Amino acid sequence: AEMFGQLTSGLESAWNKLRGVDVLTKENIAEPMRDIRRALLEADVSLPVVRRFVQSVSEQAVGVGLIRGVRPDQQLVKIVHDELVTLMGGEVSDLAFAKSGPTVILLAGLQGVGKTTVCAKLAFYLKKLGKSCLLVAADVYRPAAIDQLVILGEQVGVPVYTEGTDIKPSQIAKHGLEEAKKKTIDVVIVDTAGRLQIDKTMMDELKEVKQAVNPTEVLLVVDAMTGQEAAALVTTFNIEIGITGAILTKLDGDSRGGAALSVKEVSGKPIKLVGRGERLEDLEPFYPDRMAGRILG
Ligand code: GDP
Repeated sequence: AEMFGQLTSGLESAWNKLRGVDVLTKENIAEPMRDIRRALLEADVSLPVVRRFVQSVSEQAVGVGLIRGVRPDQQLVKIVHDELVTLMGGEVSDLAFAKSGPTVILLAGLQGVGKTTVCAKLAFYLKKLGKSCLLVAADVYRPAAIDQLVILGEQVGVPVYTEGTDIKPSQIAKHGLEEAKKKTIDVVIVDTAGRLQIDKTMMDELKEVKQAVNPTEVLLVVDAMTGQEAAALVTTFNIEIGITGAILTKLDGDSRGGAALSVKEVSGKPIKLVGRGERLEDLEPFYPDRMAGRILG
């Protein structure tokens, strides 16, 4: 719970104020609701999301008394838990696979978010699911990124398709897909160029790559440390190129939780996977109920 430490204790102070209360009323939940609101805002959850959340929890809470031996304050914990799960998309959102031929997963993201690491982690994860993978190096701006991918591919034991930097990313991706078809590889993971910030070149290039390989998944890699900014990025990329979901990295850091809580509600797109460390095995599906459990401590 160290990750959401502050959020957890902020929420706790809300229920602690309702100890010994017989029934939750508009009056006695007012201050606890302010605690919840403050805790969420401090965790960098976006304001409209916080407003809707508190509104919904309040509506469900008013009138709640002792039910089958469960105290009202304990029931508020349950209401908040369920509302957190809903906020994060409810069910786990599995990766989709193509019905026939290789599944193409296109990865996008700003520089430094952990995109290259995610390529390798994802290949490792898919290998464990029994799927063969091909990594495609379509970041033509940084030769070092290609080298990094080749090294990671060796570590995972997955082939890496490269064509240098003198050819368009959409062509590299297309040729990579052809290679995968020839070798009957299950999943093609395309690594694209990251930039320090969004610009037209990046978006146009992504659109071109997407058009060239018709990916089943277009996943935006975002850094949990950036809080609600991550949710804003997911929204922008979705509007610009159309994405299927997000991968949230660096959840092992002292992230305050805002990204995990805002992405689905703000962008309409689910978080599909989370990275919680630098090792290859540190990538796992995003389970809203487990995350809610961790937040509640
Ligand atoms: P890229 O520029 O998006 O390709 O980023 P990289 O994959 O090169 O990662 C940037 C840095 O973040 C590297 O030092 C990674 O080891 C680190 N990193 C990536 N994912 C995670 C993660 O989930 N947790 C932690 N703690 N570090 C990560």
